[in-house]
Order: sequence, then C-alpha cells, then structure tokens
Amino acid sequence: MGHDLSSNGVNFQKRGKIEWSEIGEEHIRFIASHATPVAIPIQQVEKESSVDPEMSLLRKCVINENWTDIPEGYKSVRFELAVLGQLVLRGTRIVIPQSLRAQVINLAHEGHQGIVKSKQRLRTKVWWPGADKDIERKCKSCHGCQVVGKANFPEPIKSTPLPTEPWQHLATDILGPLPDGSYLLVTVDYYSRFFEVDILKSITTEKVIECLERIFCRFGLPESLKTDNASNFTSIEFENFLSTSGIEHRKSTPLWPQANGEVERQNRTILKVLKIAQIQKSDWKRELNNFLLAYRSTPHSTTGVSPAESLFKRSLRTKLPDVKFSQSQEENMKDRDTEMKQNKGLC
Ligand SMILES: [Zn+2]
Repeated sequence: MGHDLSSNGVNFQKRGKIEWSEIGEEHIRFIASHATPVAIPIQQVEKESSVDPEMSLLRKCVINENWTDIPEGYKSVRFELAVLGQLVLRGTRIVIPQSLRAQVINLAHEGHQGIVKSKQRLRTKVWWPGADKDIERKCKSCHGCQVVGKANFPEPIKSTPLPTEPWQHLATDILGPLPDGSYLLVTVDYYSRFFEVDILKSITTEKVIECLERIFCRFGLPESLKTDNASNFTSIEFENFLSTSGIEHRKSTPLWPQANGEVERQNRTILKVLKIAQIQKSDWKRELNNFLLAYRSTPHSTTGVSPAESLFKRSLRTKLPDVKFSQSQEENMKDRDTEMKQNKGLC
C-alpha cells in the first residue's frame, strides 16, 4: 500500500496509477508561453550594452567616478560598479541592459521553480535595478509557478546534524506509474540535495538495481541508502546488491526527518513539473531536464549552495550569461567588496 502524499490540493497515491488530473488543481489553466527561452551568451550582453543609452551613461559615470548623471536605480550601488569592456558589473554580477531583461527573466524562470528560487537563480549571475520585482511579476503571472511554489513550506527546525560530505547518504524512491505507464526513480543525496531522476519502463528489482548501478558508476558508492518498504527494495536480490557493494540499507526511521520531508516535497514538485509540461503540451522529458538543470544550478534554500556546486565543487554553465573570473580577479573583487563595506561601516 502506498502512502498518501496529498497536500495543498494535490492528491495522488504513490505507486498507484497517476492521472494527470490528479496531479494539479482542477481549475489549472493553460500557460501562455510555449517557447523555449534561448541562451544569452556574454558576447550578446556586451553587444547590447554597447548600444544601450543607459549602459553608455553608466559606463561614463563609473569610468569618470562622476555620479551627477547616474541613471535611476544605480546610485545606491554605485561603489560596487565596475566596467569591463562594454559590460558593467555589479561585483561579480553582470548588469543586464534593458533590451535583454525580458529574455533573462524568461531564463531565470525556466523550470518553473517559483518566486523564491527564480530570484535566487537570477541573483547568482546578473542584476539590474528592480530585477527582483520583475521576476516576481513573471512568476505571479505564471500558473505553473503558482502550483509549484505552493510546495515550498517553511523549513522545519533542524534535528539531527546532516551528513558532513556529499554522496555519503542517499535516499531513493519510486514515483508512478505516470499516465504513459512509466515510472520515475528519484535518488537524492542528503548533503548536497542533488538528485537524479530516471525514467523506468518497469520497476522490477532487476531494473531498479541496473539504474542504481548506472548512478553509482558516475558518482561512486554511498555509505547508506534509504528506501521505503516496497517489495522492489526488500527483495533478497536488492539486499544482496547493497550488501555486496558495502552500502548500508536504511528502511525504517529516517535519520533526518527534515531532509526526508524535503525529498517528499521534491517528489511532489517533480510531478507538478510534469503536469505543467502536460498543460503546455510540451515534451515532459525535456521539461524535466530543464527543471533539473535549473534546480541543480540554483542555490538551495537550506544549504545556500547550489546542489551541483555542493556535489561537484564547480558551478554549472546554464543559459544565463556568466562572466568567468580568474582566481586572483575574484580575490581582488572580494577585497574591494570588504574594503567598501568597511568604509560604509557594514563590516
Ligand atoms: Zn512558471
């Protein structure tokens, strides 16, 4: 018997046939935009910046350190601004010219992660005056984000300290069947919150093991794996697979109730992403990949670091424009930042 995951108007049984109508609210509307936002290379930002009147004025102000004519919205951050070729930077973030802002908003919003996450995603790389408000407006007008955003409950208080390193302790769970008969095997790392989603045609122990082996050959063997008591996870074959790999099998009490609650919420989010794809009549497998790249490259609300960076110790390149700094450049900028904060009495 599957356990009930109903919450916030989302009602479906795990390991029961999932109907699309059960995943989202009944009154769900069609989402207007079907277009896939196109990546913005840094060269394009540079080109647009070179012809944008506001950016030209801003460059002049920064270079001459004369703030009399500074465009609206920039004054409070003027000491953080720098010019790099035709680009204007605020710290390590690129100031986006007017003509590209809508496209950048679409990119930050891709994956329908809701207001908070889309904002965090935007803030990691780019900035302009009112960027937060712009992304808020975008997410509020997107029904998909409304649905997904509801899954973000406030974080419960931490109980047991979490794992100290990535990929030590994992959990895996099966969702489905989906309307097309396939299942999702969702495997999450408790430390980084990085997760893998595999689409399975069948969920025999053999197929589940095959899938986990593919994951483990990429990332290595974890110390423990948490599952529920479903038969695919309790068979002798499965126990043998784990014990011969030296992986402890955890079935009952979750060590980290908080992280576990997160996994459950994550699973609901995944199903909602699929629901959005269905409403948009887009390819759900591609939408799932879009969502995964967005999720993995967005700072996590609990850890403050993106799951990918936490696991791989490097950030992922995405469709959002990004400036690469050398280590010494980055250190210089940090020094400047600290110096500025000290001057302003913030440190
Ligand atoms: Zn959305």
